[in-house]
Amino acid sequence: MLPIVLILFFIFLGFFFYKFLYKRSSIDDIRLLSAKNRQMQPHLRAILNRKVSFYRRLNAYQKQKFESDIMVFLEFTDIKGKNGMEVTDEDRMLIASGAVIPVFGFKSWRYLHLQEVILYPGNIPFGSDANGRSMEAVGLVGGGYLQGKMLLSKPALHHGFSDEEDKKNVIIHEFLHLLDKQDGTIDGVPKVLMEHPYIFPWMEMAREEMLKIDKGENQDIRKYGATNRSEFFAVVGEYFFEKPYEFKHNNPKLYKVLSKFFNQQPAG
Ligand SMILES: [Zn+2]
Repeated sequence: MLPIVLILFFIFLGFFFYKFLYKRSSIDDIRLLSAKNRQMQPHLRAILNRKVSFYRRLNAYQKQKFESDIMVFLEFTDIKGKNGMEVTDEDRMLIASGAVIPVFGFKSWRYLHLQEVILYPGNIPFGSDANGRSMEAVGLVGGGYLQGKMLLSKPALHHGFSDEEDKKNVIIHEFLHLLDKQDGTIDGVPKVLMEHPYIFPWMEMAREEMLKIDKGENQDIRKYGATNRSEFFAVVGEYFFEKPYEFKHNNPKLYKVLSKFFNQQPAG
């Protein structure tokens, strides 16, 4: 008698679990579709035109895709201000642009390791170093308490889009770390972007380039890129998107490889 009751119980449980999952995925599909087809309000489009040079460089068809990708990102990502700080439309547009730019070459993309972005009024404190000095960052993603989250400095976010000479853009940098994390680890080898035979050559290339930066033989890429391979990937990636023509001219081999990874040719 008991086994039959147990079997019935598990069938019953399985049925409800299936219904729950099915319902959730169909709700997600509906949200995705409605966000994808939603028209962007003119004042939001004006922010993109004013602030995001990557968007300005696109043709009409690509601009439409960019807007639609932004709508989808905002539909599934919570953006909050630290301690109730106000989040403006401009903040939201710049954050979403940083998310979309690195993956714009793909038909559709969802960042698996991000549910919310928390905007800070300034630098973000995160513990202390070996000498007891407190440390601060302008952007943070990772594991542990950072799982599913991105912490971001509001002034640094805006600076990233207003100064195009410094090859730095914190929001693109942090999303490149998340892209790297899509395969499970932030290690500078974003396996979701590369076929298996490219993994080792990329690791070799990164090692050689980091050595050149460290020795001062390549001063074109900022020194922080030599910290480790994950920072190397994020640093060259943000430069690739922020100043594509200069990057291509000064680092043609790296440009070629990154173009393949991102499926984009920002310098034409
Ligand atoms: Zn970094």
